[in-house]
Amino acid sequence: MNDFIPPAKPLIGEEERAAVDRVLRSGMLAQGPEVKAFEEEFAAHFGLGRECVAVNSGTSGQHLGLLSSGVKAGDEVIVPSFTFAATANSVALTGATPVFADIAADSFCLDPAAVEAVVTERTVGIMPVHLYGHPADMPGLGAVADKHGLQLFEDAAQAHGASLNGTPVGAFGSFAMFSLYPTKNMTSGEGGMVSCATGDIARLMRLYRNQGMEKQYHNEVVGFNNRMTDIHAAIGREQLKKVGAWTAKRQENAAFLSANLEGVTTPPVADGAVHVYHQYTIRVPQDRDGFAAALREQYNVGSGMFYPVPNHRLAPFAGRTRDEDLPQTEQAARECLSLPVHPSLTTGDLERIVAAVNALAKAGA
Ligand SMILES: *Cc1c(COP(=O)(O)O)cnc(C)c1O
Repeated sequence: MNDFIPPAKPLIGEEERAAVDRVLRSGMLAQGPEVKAFEEEFAAHFGLGRECVAVNSGTSGQHLGLLSSGVKAGDEVIVPSFTFAATANSVALTGATPVFADIAADSFCLDPAAVEAVVTERTVGIMPVHLYGHPADMPGLGAVADKHGLQLFEDAAQAHGASLNGTPVGAFGSFAMFSLYPTKNMTSGEGGMVSCATGDIARLMRLYRNQGMEKQYHNEVVGFNNRMTDIHAAIGREQLKKVGAWTAKRQENAAFLSANLEGVTTPPVADGAVHVYHQYTIRVPQDRDGFAAALREQYNVGSGMFYPVPNHRLAPFAGRTRDEDLPQTEQAARECLSLPVHPSLTTGDLERIVAAVNALAKAGA
């Protein structure tokens, strides 16, 4: 059989290895000059025009971003259920309650009308996820936020370089979190980068990241140790030089798939949106799980299901939101299947993916 085509593949080159070695040789391993340089280079690279603060994971970035934006126990933050659990976890860790709203069928991102329907007097914010690398409807969500006096936060874990009407994701919310986990569009090993709308939010982020200290032993708030190491930052800085070309390749791969796949629903792109294809997600209405198994077993093509169990049905959050209140979420959880789209795919790989999907779709129809 042909070689297995994996659903994701982190790319680590000589440059990353040399950068790590440079830090190891310096003897200064913890947060230092590499982290500071990475923060500045990240903000500049993605045109955020904001201060960025690096932390040890996307999840902790999201948690600290919420704390730094003033979210506290008793508050409610509206989030999608169709996402990775970190989105709701980070809200719950502040003591606030994540309230789930449904997604739009085309973008898989929060639907502004569904969000407005669950606003209460306790709601303080809306945290859309730019899922799969497609920007959420920020103008629509911004209008709901303005009307009800809410903050916008962004889960941009999957969306490095995505934009809407020329504005990069990460420049809309009080804060935005980018994950740097190995399977994301760029990595630092583990890590997160938080783009901050104001100097106050950035200062609080830095305090929370480091035990509440700006000045050593003059602790101002109760904080964590969520610092990024210089080793991880050095990897991230090298990845930053490559992510633009990788994104272009993801977009080319996606264009090829969309032009050639038949019998399945390919992912649409909203007007004015730049999609960075963290995932290329099709819908398989009949027996998605069997389809994925056949791709793997008959064609040696990997795929992913993000996410088969929506957050409102996970144990920590179960019982608050009824399945029938999130019909698009439930349908997407049943139907979505992410095909390989990563930058290491060859033309031969893409042709094999197309042939396999089209054959299975035809057989199932
Ligand atoms: C990966 C991811 C996170 C969490 O990021 P980590 O760096 O793994 O902590 C949060 N939200 C979404 C949508 C993600 O995909």
